[in-house]
Amino acid sequence: MVTIQKHGYSGIILPDYGIGLDIDTNAVPHVFISHAHADHMPRNRKISVYATPATAALMRVRGFTGNITELPFKESIQVGDARVTLYPAGHILGSAMTYIETSEGSVLYTGDYRNPPSPCTEGFECPENVDVFITEATFSLPIYRWKSHDELFQEIRSFAVDCRSKNEVPVFLTYNLGKAQEVMMALAQTQIPVQIHGAGFPLCEIYTKFGMDLGNYSRYNRKTVSDGILITPSSSLNTPIITDIKNHKIAYCSGWASLESRRAQINVDKLIPISDHIDFFELIDLCKRLNPEHVYITHTPNSEVVTHYLSDVGIASSSLDLEYPGTE
Ligand SMILES: [Zn+2]
Ligand SMILES: [Zn+2]
Repeated sequence: MVTIQKHGYSGIILPDYGIGLDIDTNAVPHVFISHAHADHMPRNRKISVYATPATAALMRVRGFTGNITELPFKESIQVGDARVTLYPAGHILGSAMTYIETSEGSVLYTGDYRNPPSPCTEGFECPENVDVFITEATFSLPIYRWKSHDELFQEIRSFAVDCRSKNEVPVFLTYNLGKAQEVMMALAQTQIPVQIHGAGFPLCEIYTKFGMDLGNYSRYNRKTVSDGILITPSSSLNTPIITDIKNHKIAYCSGWASLESRRAQINVDKLIPISDHIDFFELIDLCKRLNPEHVYITHTPNSEVVTHYLSDVGIASSSLDLEYPGTE
């Protein structure tokens, strides 16, 4: 079996093959970046990495200045003694799972992923033959079971249309990268103009460049924001970007919104539990389907729960104990 090691805060290396996965340095020669969220992008912005073309474009907008070798989905490259292929992860635009084939067996590193995929991504596709499966498990408790995207997109549209019919301004609290664009895609068919926070706007331009329909949107403008819908991160709560809008109603869009207790912590009018991460049941099902020799669990406070369920179905697993920064 291929040797896997934790590296730095939240990266992984395959020391025998000189391959790094979401690591911060060029400690090994071949570094693959799964997607452009801050907890996966290198903190050192000048190293040399491989990434999908969409991830490369998003990383550039987010300030990465190092060398990026673009590797499209499903095009394999040989690096040393290993063959590497990126598969679409369904999490955000460009997000990739890294598949590594070696003479000692194969490894699949998921990064963050979503199956069924977010409609605002290139989809989800997984190789069949996986010996070592390294999976994130952000929502790794059986209390997490997501509704379908159809149902959630309908909730997003209904909230917006209801608000507008009462002359209220709907405000969606989302991450700037991934969730914001997903909500915009859901809203596109309402044809209500959407304004997005300044930090999210240039990311939307990359999405549209890569073929995603985000509808009628523009950058946040204080003077005209009340004419439509606002999408902004939760850091805008209790700041003028929201409080200056007289008649506003707030929807919080996150996997964490599936917990009623969130309503007490964050004072909003509606919780929409839309997540770009795999839920607990999807995770266990995928492990059963791949039936690897070993599963390494990352990005979770609850690895022992996953380990327990997997051992029930005869799959060995352990935690790689990566830093658990949150949900991006
Ligand atoms: Zn992510
Ligand atoms: Zn992440």
